Amino acid sequence: MNKNAKRMRNLPAKGKKFKIVKGGKAAIATGALALTIMLASCAENSAADGTQGGNAGSTGKPAVSTRPSDVTTVAPLTDGTHTSVFYEEIPFETVYIDTPDMYDDEQIVKEEGAAGKTEVREHTLYKNGKVKDVWQEKITLAEPQKRVILRGTKPSVEIKENTVTETLEKYSTIYEECGTMEVGTKKLKTEGKNSVAVRTYRYTYIKGELAGTEVVAEEISTRVDEVILVGTKAQTFGLPFIDAAHGGVDYKLTQSFGGANNHRGLDFAVYYGDPIIAAMDGTVIEAYDAGYFSKNNILWTYGTYVVIQHDNGFRTYYAHLSRRTVKKGDKVKKGEVIGASGNTGRLNTTATGPYAGTHLHFEIRKYNAKTGVYNTVDPKPYLPWWR
Ligand SMILES: [Zn+2]
Repeated sequence: MNKNAKRMRNLPAKGKKFKIVKGGKAAIATGALALTIMLASCAENSAADGTQGGNAGSTGKPAVSTRPSDVTTVAPLTDGTHTSVFYEEIPFETVYIDTPDMYDDEQIVKEEGAAGKTEVREHTLYKNGKVKDVWQEKITLAEPQKRVILRGTKPSVEIKENTVTETLEKYSTIYEECGTMEVGTKKLKTEGKNSVAVRTYRYTYIKGELAGTEVVAEEISTRVDEVILVGTKAQTFGLPFIDAAHGGVDYKLTQSFGGANNHRGLDFAVYYGDPIIAAMDGTVIEAYDAGYFSKNNILWTYGTYVVIQHDNGFRTYYAHLSRRTVKKGDKVKKGEVIGASGNTGRLNTTATGPYAGTHLHFEIRKYNAKTGVYNTVDPKPYLPWWR
């Protein structure tokens, strides 16, 4: 007995497998109970067998057991039921709770886990010094407590892309002369385009902080200069009003140049108040309102009228206007409105014949270098309708 007790004290306290296999097969037998059984076997068979440990022998009636951890009691080698008590740990589980409030590389232990504890009572029945039966009782002393870990789901790395158009170089405007277009006219030949870069930037944010910027796509367009055609052809006279081809009205010609009453221009039967326009670029040299001249002055007959001096040595007259919108000294462009049609000056109230009602009296006068006088000419050959 003393020898046995001494050997017990030298046994390792935990961590050894203990297994007894029914049917007398060889089994691993270490630890406290194994020693007990081994000793029991030795007591009967030592003379014939002589084996040391590692074999539970074929004489006991083994039962499957779990690992003994702490052996608190050892059965004496007497017949009857002997009980060993040891304890087992019940491992705890770890559970994760996902939260979008933390980044995905972050975890916080919310609750620490705690292992549970089971008391194992192992009973061994000895009869005639042999193990007849082994069984266990298990009592849970403490349930395990789960370990709770908060686990972030917010991406710690975020990538954003943005495409922007940046102007690299602005286009220039080139003026190109065009001999088939009249002086003073312009036309867009080529639309200008800036050189631009269309770039896609990729921004990498680590936990909300910008950590890197890279250009992942880039497209650069070449510059195209704007080309504007500028007319160089000498200007020709246009009609003194807006005709149907330009959104106006093709007024009837009511009196031609010359004739029995030596008419000094052309009369057009216009509507009252319609716009009257400059037939060519020039400078206003006369502009008077009706009533400015006395009735014995020939200029009284024009009523409200405008005279424009042109660079090509011609002058144009616009008479019987209801009002004028230019004054002496004004520079005017071909097609620019200079007044409105009317019935001022010398008119006849009848609708036809000389000095008829509301109409435009239009003259072209040509400079004579020999006499230094501007002489009236038939406007027709100079105007688009008859040219
Ligand atoms: Zn007339």
